[in-house]
Amino acid sequence: MSDLTTAARPDVTLDDAARIAAGHWGLSGEMRELGSHQDHNVRIDAPRGRFVLKIANAGWARSALDAQHAALPVIAAAGIPGPTPVGGIEQVTVAGQRVHAHVLTYVEGTPLLDRGIFGVDECRLLGNTAGRVVAALADFAHPGAERHSPWDLRNAAGVIDQLAPGLRAEVATHLDRIGELAARLPTQVIHGDLTDDNVVLADGAAGVIDFGDLCVSWRCAELAVTAASVIGKTGDDVGAVLAVVEAFTAHVPLTDIELTAVWPLVVLRGAVLVASYTEMEADGAENAYAQQRDDADRRAYQASAALDAEEMSWLIRGAGQPLPTLDLPRLLPGARPVALDVTSELWDDGAWLNSGVRPDATRYGEYRLDRARPLTAPGHHKVFTLGVWITLPEDAALPETPPGVIVDASGAPRIWVQACALPGTPPRTVTAHAEHLWRRICPDPSPLLGVDVAAPEPDPAGLLARRGAHFAAVQEHYYDAPPQIERGWREFLVDSRANVYLDLVNNVATTGHAHPHLSRAASRQWRLLNTNSRFHYEQVVTLCERLAGLAPDGLDQVFLVNSGSEAVDLAMRLALTATGRTRMLAAREAYHGNTIGSDAVTSSIGDNPHALETRPAWVELIDAPNRIRGTHRGPDAGRAYLADLDAQLGRIDTTEIAGVILEPLFGNGGGVLLPEGYLAGVFDRVRALGGVCISDEVQVGYGRLGHHFWGFEQQGAVPDIITIAKAMGNGQPLGAVITTRAIADAFAAEGSFFSSAGGSPVSAAVGNAVLDVMADERLQENARIVGTRLKDGLDALAVRHPAIGAVHGMGLYLGVELVTDRETFAPATELAHAVCEAMREEGCIVQPTGDLHNVLKIKPPMVISAESVDYALAALGRVLSRL
Ligand code: PMP
Repeated sequence: MSDLTTAARPDVTLDDAARIAAGHWGLSGEMRELGSHQDHNVRIDAPRGRFVLKIANAGWARSALDAQHAALPVIAAAGIPGPTPVGGIEQVTVAGQRVHAHVLTYVEGTPLLDRGIFGVDECRLLGNTAGRVVAALADFAHPGAERHSPWDLRNAAGVIDQLAPGLRAEVATHLDRIGELAARLPTQVIHGDLTDDNVVLADGAAGVIDFGDLCVSWRCAELAVTAASVIGKTGDDVGAVLAVVEAFTAHVPLTDIELTAVWPLVVLRGAVLVASYTEMEADGAENAYAQQRDDADRRAYQASAALDAEEMSWLIRGAGQPLPTLDLPRLLPGARPVALDVTSELWDDGAWLNSGVRPDATRYGEYRLDRARPLTAPGHHKVFTLGVWITLPEDAALPETPPGVIVDASGAPRIWVQACALPGTPPRTVTAHAEHLWRRICPDPSPLLGVDVAAPEPDPAGLLARRGAHFAAVQEHYYDAPPQIERGWREFLVDSRANVYLDLVNNVATTGHAHPHLSRAASRQWRLLNTNSRFHYEQVVTLCERLAGLAPDGLDQVFLVNSGSEAVDLAMRLALTATGRTRMLAAREAYHGNTIGSDAVTSSIGDNPHALETRPAWVELIDAPNRIRGTHRGPDAGRAYLADLDAQLGRIDTTEIAGVILEPLFGNGGGVLLPEGYLAGVFDRVRALGGVCISDEVQVGYGRLGHHFWGFEQQGAVPDIITIAKAMGNGQPLGAVITTRAIADAFAAEGSFFSSAGGSPVSAAVGNAVLDVMADERLQENARIVGTRLKDGLDALAVRHPAIGAVHGMGLYLGVELVTDRETFAPATELAHAVCEAMREEGCIVQPTGDLHNVLKIKPPMVISAESVDYALAALGRVLSRL
């Protein structure tokens, strides 16, 4: 075996280990195997303490072990807890092979890896420990450390070529870069493997174990190995790496050249790990320890290879050394910069997607929206601007540029101006990672122009604090640390850092966000007239005609209000007055609104944990007809729920029942379809009692189901009253009640009905514009076709991922129910939360719903494209595989 390969581990049983420990060190006790890539490590709990017997790989030279024994006291003298050698290094025979073995004291504590928490503090601790070890070993020398180790990154090219030549092309630029820098990288003895595996925490102090990779190498390689080990362990790889760099360089000041080498070495370290697994697989060697790490290390390597190498090198250089404060003189004429951020009017009506603008002057620190694209993960695009464009007056001469200032006049009179505290030519726009560090590397060039050209820094956390101060907190927000969403376009939402998210939750945005036809109709109507419906104007008449035309025959009287809650409230008043009765039937687990009346029939404990104990006496709750996880399941569930209802009606005074309010599909439960025949069965029974039937279509009606315009059509039932809102106004406060003339007339006996803004010219114009867009863009058909594609894709994911218990709904009203057990349907509430967080990192906004918060609600704007649906499915697949 060549000394460049990672040699196979010796074949040692616990019996062998016991024999060797007793024979050579007089040690006996409980033995247990510890993990190792290449050696055999056995912990011995002996009466006189804990020890580790290390039986070395046959490739080991005795001198390398001598070097370890010599280095350990040096580490200890620096105050870093670590193992102490017990006795000497012995030759032992295992499986007929002569190999070296030695014994060290066992370092008590928990490896960082096993603590289950890993954040930026752990990154700092690792960087700090690696820095202290390198500082301690700075003057240490031993001939045994001058060895040829495959883990020495100086040999990375050879290892990769030999073990995984397929990787060579992927890392070629990093190898070339290191080739250029190598001669200027100082060497010393390093530990070589300071990762969360080998740093143990006991009583708050970090100890170091496993000196098996000790050798002379580049001193910056120690930092690279540690930095590589934190990738994939926190939510922010860039921040994690920089935390390691900062902590390390606090103990070992590195040169600018060394810092430049760190990132290529991080990627190469990942590649060497992957290469070593490739070899182990080829050998068919069984090493459970290594296999367990394999996947995580491969993913980490891929994550590092996917980061922008130029940006990473700049950031590491910026984080790893003190940056000079630039003295920027006034050099250039002032400028009046144009905003290009998320709220810039230049980008209205989707213009950010096909930018050709070149303003005379731009801003520094701008998150340029025209550099962002949909269907990408946040932080993926180079949107953050580190300099400014300005246009010089015709007669202006170009100034001499002082150190730290870059002026590119190749496109004069438009010139690029950028300040930079480090030597070299920095990138002009970068991805939105570590922006505060970028602001130090490339500071605000305003002083050069004598005017403020800096864009305001986005501050979603500051805004959240302001929100918390006065916006009553019971009005919740999505996510613990929500992005600040300031623009929408079609099925996309954009935050203040120009991250574009696929919006999978906004069923209210029927026509998509910021539809030009809608915004034009609303602003035109505002310029014409906005008043109340006691005046006589066309928009309200047209809207009511269109709604009556959409409703079933006989339902041709329309009331216009401002919300779903108001519509539900009014619908129940209509039922009470039409029947002269006082009580309503409503299903458990439903949500109907926030007014006293609509809240009374809302019994979802997901929204109000006390809902079931606090419903007023006029509300008669009936069982939630959930055929997936309810009292009755399967094909006969409808009949069984109706039989229960009959029994319940037999127990109460039905002469007081004015009617029933039901959603035609469990909106709040995540789109669970009602059992077959259920809605028609309930309506028949209520009508037989002399009651009135309300279908609450606020959430699921209005074309979203694709196959049907109204939810009740899916159930083959016809209501007496329909409530709508949400979709009909695309977010404009607009709701409606549609009913029969008989019911509307009965209500007239109560006096007049008036809603100041319900059906106002502006609201009615928006309602009409929504219907225009739905017809012109065939949105119901889109809901059917794209919705079916989405549902089929989710069903396919359910085959591969047992966490998906069921996929509910139809069209673009879908729910993905996550369970811990497909038989019992036990809810996977925590998983649902984690999936939503991870989906956000993939650039998709999705939220949990249902009484148990375990159903992902998927109800995107009805304009969603097949491409977006495919992106969402791929993202969900990745997330479910990962979690
Ligand atoms: N009914 C149903 C079925 C709903 O889902 C909602 C809102 N989620 C409402 C009524 C109340 O609508 P709004 O929020 O517009 O008052």
